[in-house]
Amino acid sequence: MAQLDTREKLAILADAAKYDASCASSGTAKRDSRDGKGIGSTEGMGICHAYAPDGRCISLLKILLTNSCIFDCHYCINRKSSNVRRARFTAQEVVNLTLAFYRRNYIEGLFLSSGIIRSSDYTMEQIVEVARSLREDHDFRGYIHLKTIPDADPELVRLAGVHADRVSINVELPTVGGLRRLAPEKDASRIEGAMADVKTAIDDRKDAAKRYRSAPGFAPAGQSTQMIVGADAATDRDIVGRAATLYDRFRLRRVYYSAFSPIPDASAVLPLQRPPLLREHRLYQSDWLMRFYDYRPDEVAAAADEATGMLPLDIDPKLAWALKFRQHFPVDVNRAPREMLLRVPGLGVKAVDRIIATRRWRRLRLEDIARLTVSIAKLRPFLIAADWRPVGLSDRADVAPLVKPRARQLELFA
Ligand code: SF4
Repeated sequence: MAQLDTREKLAILADAAKYDASCASSGTAKRDSRDGKGIGSTEGMGICHAYAPDGRCISLLKILLTNSCIFDCHYCINRKSSNVRRARFTAQEVVNLTLAFYRRNYIEGLFLSSGIIRSSDYTMEQIVEVARSLREDHDFRGYIHLKTIPDADPELVRLAGVHADRVSINVELPTVGGLRRLAPEKDASRIEGAMADVKTAIDDRKDAAKRYRSAPGFAPAGQSTQMIVGADAATDRDIVGRAATLYDRFRLRRVYYSAFSPIPDASAVLPLQRPPLLREHRLYQSDWLMRFYDYRPDEVAAAADEATGMLPLDIDPKLAWALKFRQHFPVDVNRAPREMLLRVPGLGVKAVDRIIATRRWRRLRLEDIARLTVSIAKLRPFLIAADWRPVGLSDRADVAPLVKPRARQLELFA
């Protein structure tokens, strides 16, 4: 490996880390000011954002320890057979960088992942050493998110949880078949075994904390995982089902969906095109429905097209479900239980809570609901208010065009 200075390593290892989703991503126009014109950038690597349990958005230095790897996962730019420029930080270098950026107020924490060097245990030891040194040698109290390696010794994974706020283990692909085909050195049962160990350690820590005030902490921000979308043939229905199982079995805080992006020098087994970014967005919306809107996984899956198993791209999954199951509507905003109000397209959790609080004192009219939502036109066919009843509208076969967002002309050179 060529001798590189810290700045060069940082450029390589921050760029290599961008494929790890640690925060929900979304598409936007590419802009930067590297040519000296303007200010700001939508493309910079190296700093990502996460949400603390109290809702604060915190900036994290997001890097890999190394982009060298002994594995050859087809979808990964850092795989053994890839032709990328390699770099490697020592644990001490990552500690120094984190502290330096923290002192300059650029970041409030660290997100650290790594390719696998020598062995899973060796790599995990280096990752743990970064977190240990930050916590014990420097009394670092900022946020630490560590990606852990499922094959590593469980004791090393446990130590990662002792020092980190959040640990994550990537399931990588939604189906076992996809994992076998695209990441042949990885093993779905070992990944799930590591997740189960982390869950047990988090539960043990909660029990211990009830008995002893001084019980040592363990990953207080829980564990998360990432699934790559569009690299294999898994449908949205498969992905929703897999995410639901992971939430249920391992009590994950988050499942991140990362739209596969074709990489330079890609393996021939991968698709040539990335899936639409909107697909990733629709999956995040379906995830939201399960976590905050009380939809069962099979209900979210039912919003998908029966033949293809894919969620529609032109409307959100909540609206797709409402259009498909019209027999549940209209919902009376003055009488319906909370779980039915949450099903009304266009009504968010806060709006539903406001409706429930207000209707204790008076009957709600359509204009009251209009104040709580962006577009009352989307809601009209689905609700009843004191002065509104969608006579004829809720039974109309062609109600979809009335509530779908208007199609926008795409920009040719966007
Ligand atoms: S183990 Fe991780 S870094 Fe290595 S090739 Fe697979 S996905 Fe990439």
